[in-house]
Amino acid sequence: MVVPRALELGAEVVQIFNANPRTWRSRPFSTEELHTFSAALRAHRLPLFLHTIYLVNLASPEEELRLRSEEALVEALLLGTRTGAAGVVTHVGSHRGAGFARARNWVAQAVTRAYVRVAETLGQTGSQVTGPTESRTGDPSGSQAIVPPLLLETAAGSGQTVGGRLEELEDLLLLLDSALPPGLSPAGLCLDTAHLFAAGYPLHETEPDGLDALIARLRSLGLSDRIGLIHLNDSQTPFGGRQDRHQNLGYGKMGYQTLARVVRHPKLAHVPFVLEVPGLEGHGPDAFNLGVAKSMREGAPGPPARLVPAEKDPADAG
Ligand SMILES: [Zn+2]
Repeated sequence: MVVPRALELGAEVVQIFNANPRTWRSRPFSTEELHTFSAALRAHRLPLFLHTIYLVNLASPEEELRLRSEEALVEALLLGTRTGAAGVVTHVGSHRGAGFARARNWVAQAVTRAYVRVAETLGQTGSQVTGPTESRTGDPSGSQAIVPPLLLETAAGSGQTVGGRLEELEDLLLLLDSALPPGLSPAGLCLDTAHLFAAGYPLHETEPDGLDALIARLRSLGLSDRIGLIHLNDSQTPFGGRQDRHQNLGYGKMGYQTLARVVRHPKLAHVPFVLEVPGLEGHGPDAFNLGVAKSMREGAPGPPARLVPAEKDPADAG
């Protein structure tokens, strides 16, 4: 389902949830199912990213919730290893008032324990865990299992969520660098355009250039080379509104030009982009949004007319 749909839409990168994102229930996959899926991804050269379920809260003061989150992370990392995923994206979560200073240790502990458990599980199944220096072109179901890097996602900054400020993510990545078992891919960053905008990064401003300021900040924090993925989304939330509400490309408060500058920025040219938009029909990323993203990349001054949806067509207005 996933690969044919991606090909039909003209996608070049795939991101999926490893389980129903709104429940803790996990979904078992047969070995054959995983083999067919990863073979299809490889055949069409589609890099895969997994996203952990929305319930994950690695920063929670409640130990029970952190343990469930750790469990969900283990599942995502194992599935990522078995499908040859390029990364596992997660929201860090909310410290619920406990403060970042305490939450950072909970996050590091949960992530580290998850990686140790993944290594143990893979060891038990006869796989050898390797880091990023090994080739990713091999068969992920073979003896060389590559555990994908964890990518911490920028947050919209509502309430007590962790990750609304890049400094928090930098701190967590440094903490994980020293805490994770050796030989693993270091954790990285997933930038979400709608979240950054909602959190107060002025990507829409051209004088002075808010995007260049963001790129400079990432560089000064040592994060430029750690961006593993970008979520390209417009935002229903106004600038600095601190609410996580995505919108179709060009239909939100960010708009076509703002997002096009992100897509075309030379310092982000090496990073894969995925869409997390509601879609015109409400079924998620669709041909319309993919077409808009491609026209941004190609330098078009606006979305191609043939992609303007019917309800926006002046000919239909009367
Ligand atoms: Zn996102």
